[in-house]
Amino acid sequence: MSMQRLEGKVAIVTGGASGIGAETVKLFAKHGACVVIADIQDYLGKQVATSVGTDKVSYRHCDVRDEKQVEETVAFTVEKYGGLDIMFSNAGVAGSQSNVLDLDLNDFDNTIAVNLRGYAVCIKHAARVMVARKTRGSIICTASTVATVSVGGFDGKGYVASKSGILGLVRSTCGDLGEFGIRVNSISPYLVATPLATRVLNMDASEVEEIAVAGANLKGIVLRPIHIAQAALFLASDESAYISGHDMVVDGGFGGVNKTFD
Ligand code: NAD
Repeated sequence: MSMQRLEGKVAIVTGGASGIGAETVKLFAKHGACVVIADIQDYLGKQVATSVGTDKVSYRHCDVRDEKQVEETVAFTVEKYGGLDIMFSNAGVAGSQSNVLDLDLNDFDNTIAVNLRGYAVCIKHAARVMVARKTRGSIICTASTVATVSVGGFDGKGYVASKSGILGLVRSTCGDLGEFGIRVNSISPYLVATPLATRVLNMDASEVEEIAVAGANLKGIVLRPIHIAQAALFLASDESAYISGHDMVVDGGFGGVNKTFD
């Protein structure tokens, strides 16, 4: 197997300025891909691009709630790097964690706008370009174990609904795009100590990791962004050429034993 598993490929990573996305940008670049980081945290996004230290990685301000910005980011990518092979739709917000009795519908709408509508927009514009250019591309969406299993603390109504919705979106769009050789898959990570998780749980990273270790079935390992990035690398590469409509759960067996930790 070649060490450069994405040689000659071009990727967009939404939410690439932080956490899972930032780790994936670095891994994709290490494996030879050109990568556009699409995010709204401009300072962090530019920092990630600079840290890779090659002109094969660029930052582009892109709010996935705005269809025009997504369309322009896709066009920018094709113009700059000559195509688009991989869309990693990964940007996410947690929203508020309130009980349904106190549901704030503005917060609910915003969470859905980023985590579900934003994913539909990214799939749409990536797929349009892939179809037009006859690229047998790979579209990967970050869902979550909360889509299927209760994970204590991560209980925002918009968050859980959006993550479950991503699974439906993947199943439905992979049906549309199969005839063009375009694959659509999701990844469902368990608890990873990123800024999103530390904010929701109101803990520091080591406390979040402690909880994650306690909840997971697999012991002796802490789930880190790199483990999710490795799953994304596989789904982005030709090694997964016949995998579409799949949800790759990266949870150390958490969902398999159907545990909750609260
Ligand atoms: P993170 O906060 O480190 O990264 C999320 C990124 O998304 C940020 O850089 C943020 O600026 C960006 N973003 C937010 N709104 C955006 C918008 N409107 N347009 C563009 N970018 C936007 O958190 P993370 O944990 O790395 O999250 C990545 C994905 O992983 C999310 O979809 C999240 O729901 C999912 N996830 C995380 C966990 C976890 O435990 N951390 C578990 C399962 C799934």
